[in-house]
Amino acid sequence: MRFPLALTVKIARHIIRHKLRKTPRFALVLQLEPLHTCNLTCTGCGRIREYSTSLKDMMALEDCLESARECDAPMVSICGGEPLIYPKIKELVAGLLEQGRIVYICTNGMFMRRELRDYLASIYSPAVEPTLARLLAEKLISEKEAEAIRKAKPDGRPAIKPSKWMYWNVHVDGLEYTHDLIVEREGVFKECVLAVRMAKILGYQVATNTTVYKETDVKEIEQMFEFFSSLEVDGHTISPGYDYDAAKKDMVKRLGRQPEDFFLTRAMTRAKFAKIQEWGERFTIFGTPVYQEFLAGKRELTCTAWAIPTRNIRGWKAPCYLMTDGHYEHYQEMLDRVDWDKYGVVNGVARDSRCENCMVHCGYDPSGALGTNYQGGDNWKNFKYNFWPRPKPFVEGAKVPAFNGFSIGKGHLAEAKAAVQNGLAGARSAFQNNGHNGASAGSCGSGTSPEKDDLLAKLREVKPSNR
Ligand code: SF4
Ligand code: SF4
Repeated sequence: MRFPLALTVKIARHIIRHKLRKTPRFALVLQLEPLHTCNLTCTGCGRIREYSTSLKDMMALEDCLESARECDAPMVSICGGEPLIYPKIKELVAGLLEQGRIVYICTNGMFMRRELRDYLASIYSPAVEPTLARLLAEKLISEKEAEAIRKAKPDGRPAIKPSKWMYWNVHVDGLEYTHDLIVEREGVFKECVLAVRMAKILGYQVATNTTVYKETDVKEIEQMFEFFSSLEVDGHTISPGYDYDAAKKDMVKRLGRQPEDFFLTRAMTRAKFAKIQEWGERFTIFGTPVYQEFLAGKRELTCTAWAIPTRNIRGWKAPCYLMTDGHYEHYQEMLDRVDWDKYGVVNGVARDSRCENCMVHCGYDPSGALGTNYQGGDNWKNFKYNFWPRPKPFVEGAKVPAFNGFSIGKGHLAEAKAAVQNGLAGARSAFQNNGHNGASAGSCGSGTSPEKDDLLAKLREVKPSNR
């Protein structure tokens, strides 16, 4: 099965229960942002920009747990910022699992191995030695770290343990060269790969989380899937980025410029995702086949942003993960007070001009699961996609030249910076701005921004032989 049976049954029961009760709107996935602090400053990150005045604030543990109870979503995606910086992350994961939630930890990967070592320390006994030996042999831990694991004293905190109810969801937007440039730090991709390998050895479920930008090279994304498939990851989330900016819209109107000069338009998204169904056959792509058909331009869906609500330090963010028209104290209050009929695109007509080109998973993936815009055969398609055997790991993916940047001396600070100095002006501005200037409705792993597109466009100007 693509998705473990117990998890599929849990989600199906949740949907059926609400359908029988005729609940008009309910949550499927809670996007919980306990903090917006991050250890990285990715090019054009929308989150650290939108919440720049409250980067030091964080939600209390009890507020996080209560938010999950309040919306009662079967799945909780802990994002941010970087959730592994949240001081109570272990207690948060334990508390959500205790509530019976399916938990995704959306991370940039930099602190993941630290959590894995903490887990090993929490279960250490001589029986763990063969695992330590393997991790040492594969250079996933150092001798010093192995010793620290052996000597650690229990601190009473719950470690993040492997569980069929939990996934690490590691953010990667390309192979090493591209990813490290986007996150503006060399070595990040390599650390992500080490963390994924270590997590798989320890028995965790691991997924990757990728955003496709206007300038993303889809061939590279396919290679990235091949590579991570060879590492036997358990699934991939992929979504088109989306950026709305009133100034750009105004330029389209007043200056007669083409929308595709500025936006990842619907037509462009469909072109980028033309092979999504083929990818769904080859790799364990999360999300419904109905959403995949939507991305490939084969059908329309209506936005159901209320099904993937975002809760952060300011409250329940409405109407969606990307746009902010307000924050509410309670989920039900948000459901009741937001005029949901004002948002989304229906039969190709945008009800709000900001929604015009949006096809993001947090607005439309639940529509596929909830049967919005139902067409005959959809239930069978969804059933078959979930229950059919999971695609086999693509062993040939190990040959993908994934380490094409920092690891071979072509990282952000080496060749890339040299390329920038040689006139890649857009990339230079992205570096100089440290990712915090310019308009962006982007966010961690799910948004986009002009800076990212500019950077990716300039990267494509670098000849492949140089990459
Ligand atoms: S269409 Fe997109 S931008 Fe508009 S409300 Fe839905 S998710 Fe948000
Ligand atoms: S995109 Fe994510 S990882 Fe990057 S700076 Fe923003 S919150 Fe951090």
